[in-house]
Amino acid sequence: MKRIQMVDLKGQYEKIKERIDSSVLDVIRSSAYINGPEVHAFQKELEDYLGVKHVIPCANGTDALQICMMGLGLKPGDEVITADFTFAATVEVIALLGLTPVLVDVDPVDFNISIDAIKKAITPKTKAIVPVHLFGKAANMDAIMEIANEHELFVIEDNAQGIGGTYTFADGKKQKTGAIGHAASTSFFPSKNLGCYGDGGAIFTNDDDLAHTMRGIVNHGMYKRYYHDVVGVNSRLDSIQATILRAKLPYLDEYNTARRAAARKYTEAFKGNAKIITPVICESCDCHVFHQYTLRVLDTDRDALLKHLQDNAIPCAIYYPVPLHAQKAYADERYKEEDFIVTNQLVKEVISLPMHTELDDEQIAYITSKVIEFVGG
Ligand SMILES: *Cc1c(COP(=O)(O)O)cnc(C)c1O
Repeated sequence: MKRIQMVDLKGQYEKIKERIDSSVLDVIRSSAYINGPEVHAFQKELEDYLGVKHVIPCANGTDALQICMMGLGLKPGDEVITADFTFAATVEVIALLGLTPVLVDVDPVDFNISIDAIKKAITPKTKAIVPVHLFGKAANMDAIMEIANEHELFVIEDNAQGIGGTYTFADGKKQKTGAIGHAASTSFFPSKNLGCYGDGGAIFTNDDDLAHTMRGIVNHGMYKRYYHDVVGVNSRLDSIQATILRAKLPYLDEYNTARRAAARKYTEAFKGNAKIITPVICESCDCHVFHQYTLRVLDTDRDALLKHLQDNAIPCAIYYPVPLHAQKAYADERYKEEDFIVTNQLVKEVISLPMHTELDDEQIAYITSKVIEFVGG
């Protein structure tokens, strides 16, 4: 059996090595390292793939979120609602801009922001909702867009884990995640579903004016060279990363299909086990791209399971071990534990198994047998 990895970037690279190597070399020889034609071409190709009017490449997914909030003109004192159970980048940029983060509980089934909790958290100061398509599963965008329309709020999708997913609305209309809200962010961190070989990110929007504003913000607030109309940032995707992403984008659907296939095999093996809750798998649509395959284990010493798997050469991880409202940096006396019942439970029960495009049946059989051996049931 091949050694199991949490993410097998090398195996994925080997399959497209020639294209990657030659395009990286071409960029080096072209010397167009910043804002070169590769960046522009990637932008266009990603716009076409997503069916979104504007893609604005930037340096990473955290910057992308920050630039969305700057572009939308959010100001100190504005409240921004987001999920308590996510990676810290989401709440970090809210706090960094002097906005007021309002963390809310999540749904126990799909781990995404709870619609009831959003409704409860809205005040006259609320300006935006930031749903995260956590672990690759699209949040309930029907309900989120409806609430946003009703209360005139902006929706910024954090699509760092969800790229390539398709959301199907109640009326049957389909849209790629990240093309639904007023703006969206994504990350091309190497382990993400569309990863480059360093840092990278992008912003998406269908709003022409907002796109114009954000294109200036990413470039020091310049709309005309050396005229700085607003306070901006320096956030660029470089040409080497762009050429790697151009090589990989045509495989994104195939990669996500491979992840879904691995997820189905995991779930099949755990079927009927009363102590294991497997993640939702939608049979009729592609709303889950399985950035992670995350189990909830019941009546089990989860940390001992983690160790058992690691001792058996199975890398795995706890995404995430601490709710954001309980993190030192984001603690606030406004928060009450009874408002975070689901997140407080999930952080004790979740465990993410190896998930990538190169998992084979032998590895999945071995991993699932080791989980069941420990959990019983
Ligand atoms: C990875 C990630 C980010 C940040 O992306 P970077 O490119 O690492 O800055 C933001 N939000 C979520 C949910 C992520 O998983």
